[in-house]
Amino acid sequence: MSDPMLDRSIGALLGLAVGDALGAPFEGLDRDSYPRALDFAAGGMHGIEPGAWTDDTAMAICLAESLLAERRIEERDLLERFLRWYRAGENSASGRAIGVSPKTRATLEAFERSRRIDAAAEVDNAGNGAIMRLAPVAIYFREDPTEARRSAARQARVTHTSREALAAAELFADLLVAALRTGDPEAVSRAAASAAHPDLAAVRDHRGKTREQISSAPRAVDTLEAALWCLHRADSFEAVVVEAVNLGGDSDTLGAVAGQFAGAIFGASAIPQRWLTTLLSRERLAGLANRLHTEGWAR
Ligand code: MG
Ligand code: MG
Repeated sequence: MSDPMLDRSIGALLGLAVGDALGAPFEGLDRDSYPRALDFAAGGMHGIEPGAWTDDTAMAICLAESLLAERRIEERDLLERFLRWYRAGENSASGRAIGVSPKTRATLEAFERSRRIDAAAEVDNAGNGAIMRLAPVAIYFREDPTEARRSAARQARVTHTSREALAAAELFADLLVAALRTGDPEAVSRAAASAAHPDLAAVRDHRGKTREQISSAPRAVDTLEAALWCLHRADSFEAVVVEAVNLGGDSDTLGAVAGQFAGAIFGASAIPQRWLTTLLSRERLAGLANRLHTEGWAR
């Protein structure tokens, strides 16, 4: 592609979906309890077909379309889209919402009853649901890192209000914007290593850890650390996401977060063709990323 930054923007969103689809058949399984995942597969707890993705990608599509319609994070519009996905399967791969965590389910049902945009305040959610879907924000606001950070927290807060989840969303925005702008994995790793927030200590130390020290639990800080760890030890799009989805546990979201990093760094043109051909809604996702990139804030 002639515009490397556009290639990286499209890579960030396609990378999210590719990682989600690669990890989805193994979500919830223990590390190393399944043969090393190298390609799309069918099955898992959601009984998906190869190349289909879960809540991570569906919620990212909701976020992308909300941003393109509202030109900013508009909480009510975003929550209505999440609710239509949850109840009616809008923006899902298969016509139904899959992979919704119990806490996000509780928040969306609380919003459905009250129509209050602070429905998440009653649910203390430190999960990785606000970072798994973040790429559209980083692409759209990449020219204004301060606004990217602010918008990352705003979109997080509609489902995740814990201090940790918000800190992770802000840092992930910083890191994804840096990745999109520079394409340099070392710059991303260095920026993560100097994160100042007290809740982000694990992320700061990601470079020196062994695989056994990396958690595959669905907490935002753990997932961000795991994705950075994969990025630090692998040198291609494929190697980063394969490392991530083989950590077990929340394998689809580990794939989605690592895939956003890898796509934002190596670009859509670095994603193996065999994955792109099978990925569900590939054209739609690439089209959304293209629009987020070209219609983005303060070009
Ligand atoms: Mg999922
Ligand atoms: Mg998950």
